[in-house]
Amino acid sequence: MDSTIERKLATGLLPRHHPVKSWAGFGTGESCDGCDQPILATEVEYEVDFAESLTLRFHVTCEQIWRALITQIAQPATSEGA
Ligand SMILES: [Zn+2]
Repeated sequence: MDSTIERKLATGLLPRHHPVKSWAGFGTGESCDGCDQPILATEVEYEVDFAESLTLRFHVTCEQIWRALITQIAQPATSEGA
């Protein structure tokens, strides 16, 4: 799963910057934006909101992997501002 998230980051399918908001809830059976597997109602889902009105959902573990990766490749914020 790790490599899927890495590949998505490399190809720009996943944002490389931190979200403005994130919260946890239970899954609804929709696909995880990290590993593409469904997040079941019995699993915790992490929803993350970005400034550009993009919302992604992850498994808790996928969110942790993604966040660790973007922290590693952290780049200065250039797309912020009004
Ligand atoms: Zn996942």
